[in-house]
Amino acid sequence: MPEPEGPIGPADASRVPRFSGLATFARLPALDQVPRWDIAVVGVPFDGGTSYRPGARFGPAAVRQGSRLLRPYNPALDALPFELAQVVDAGDIACTPFSAEEAVGQIEAGADALLAGGGRLVAIGGDHTIALPLLRATARRHGPLALVHFDAHLDTWDTYFGQRFTHGTPFRRAWEEGLLLHDHSAHVGLRGPLYSDADLTDDLSMGFAQLTTDHVATHGVAEVVRRVLARVGDAPVYISVDIDVLDPAHAPGTGTPEAGGLTSRELLALVRGLRPAAVVGGDVVEVSPAYDHAEITAIAAAHVLYDLVTIMASPGPA
Ligand code: MN
Ligand code: MN
Repeated sequence: MPEPEGPIGPADASRVPRFSGLATFARLPALDQVPRWDIAVVGVPFDGGTSYRPGARFGPAAVRQGSRLLRPYNPALDALPFELAQVVDAGDIACTPFSAEEAVGQIEAGADALLAGGGRLVAIGGDHTIALPLLRATARRHGPLALVHFDAHLDTWDTYFGQRFTHGTPFRRAWEEGLLLHDHSAHVGLRGPLYSDADLTDDLSMGFAQLTTDHVATHGVAEVVRRVLARVGDAPVYISVDIDVLDPAHAPGTGTPEAGGLTSRELLALVRGLRPAAVVGGDVVEVSPAYDHAEITAIAAAHVLYDLVTIMASPGPA
């Protein structure tokens, strides 16, 4: 096979209709169809850490299906992400559906194997448990990370039912393991009832900024972007997006919905605003398609992934 001159892009929609063919993310080539790659979208279909609605194990397949309508040019960022970088679909990291601790180890090993090629990963969950092994593998390559965490929830609780590896605990574990830089990370989109105010003070002691959904509504997307960029500085950044940061009107298909969330328009603008950051990895998690309607949640997640891939492929001024 002759070496291609540039990145191999999505299947040509003028020859192969968007609704046909195997569903890779954005109809991009699979890993084994390219000689090398820069950014890999990888599914992590694990939901054994969920505390309420299950089903995020089917998230990767649903988000790939929801990504069929993505097109090559991103006008909001004036970029052709799939020409600037070789982006591929790396399939799924296989892991046990039974033991969360064993799955975390398998996901870490799977991410390590992919990162050995020198590229960057963007994962599709799965529940938020998967962020911990991805942060481990990413920090092994890039050192301690600044985390930008979009979520209704803190996910820095200590244990659930005595369990340390759940979708409510990944960032407490990441903090304990030294994967995160102190005072460089932020939660964005927090809202909803907590167990007590200690949830917030515990989290602050781990060095997170807490930007609530009300804060976004009051100060606006541009000001929130400015604050987050100032906080992460020039550190390597990992962006983790729990789709429940969106209002249930914009993302009904998720595990722990909370009323009063961001719109998909706000979330996309926030992600695009992080273009100046040094993004070394990310994920979009908690899409649970059995609770979705008309692919609302899967399409929102696909678009978040598209903008995330674009800012990684074309970093620069906002
Ligand atoms: Mn959440
Ligand atoms: Mn979460």
